[in-house]
Amino acid sequence: MKIDILTLFPESFSYLDSSILKRAKENGILEINVIDIRQFSKDKHKKCDDYPFGGGAGMLMTAQPIYDAVKSVQKDNSHIVFASPSGHKLSVAAAQELSQKEHIIFICGHYEGVDQRVLDLLKPQEISIGDYVLTGGELPTMVIIDCLSRFIDGVITKESLDEESFSSGSLEYPQYTRPQVFEGLAVPDVLVSGNHQEISKWRKQQSEEKTKIVRPDLLKNE
Ligand code: SAM
Repeated sequence: MKIDILTLFPESFSYLDSSILKRAKENGILEINVIDIRQFSKDKHKKCDDYPFGGGAGMLMTAQPIYDAVKSVQKDNSHIVFASPSGHKLSVAAAQELSQKEHIIFICGHYEGVDQRVLDLLKPQEISIGDYVLTGGELPTMVIIDCLSRFIDGVITKESLDEESFSSGSLEYPQYTRPQVFEGLAVPDVLVSGNHQEISKWRKQQSEEKTKIVRPDLLKNE
């Protein structure tokens, strides 16, 4: 998959150069380009923001640099995403669908957001990462990329995905690694019993109990 990220703050994206995403890039599974919107500004001072018509707090990103930046990379197979508090909330299903795209262009808003005409003309899929407001679309874009990448073949193992929280409508069971006793707390006996049937039963039980307490809403959606 090819991903183009359009942003006023390219330096924000070093996270994508670490760990699992770094490996996916090195293996040729993911190609990620970070593009500075400012270089497309036709303003003589490369300005990319202005006051909102009608007044109000803060500045808005102007339409022209974003529009031209998108047009510079858009192809017939491109899917455009705008991270926005007004979008549909990111979900496993949405991430899985995005993971099937060949090319995604992410637009990162900043300040008070973007001129509405960017959205009217380019009709991006608007995705929210939660009911709160961040200062910019850079973190939400990284969250969406990280989340969708996990569903691309070869990025992580299928077993990891199957056992993960939300994959079967509940939260994951507690997990332990070495040492067997830490600060007086021992790993539950069943996990070192070698009895895989019992381990699987215990995990299912734990997962259901935890979900019932922390996220009962997930069980209602079953
Ligand atoms: N004025 C906007 C509003 O009330 O909806 C908020 C603008 S926010 C300060 C700046 C940018 O951050 C947005 O354009 C969007 O790209 C990004 N952003 C902030 N919170 C977000 C969220 N919860 N989900 C996705 N993107 C978000």
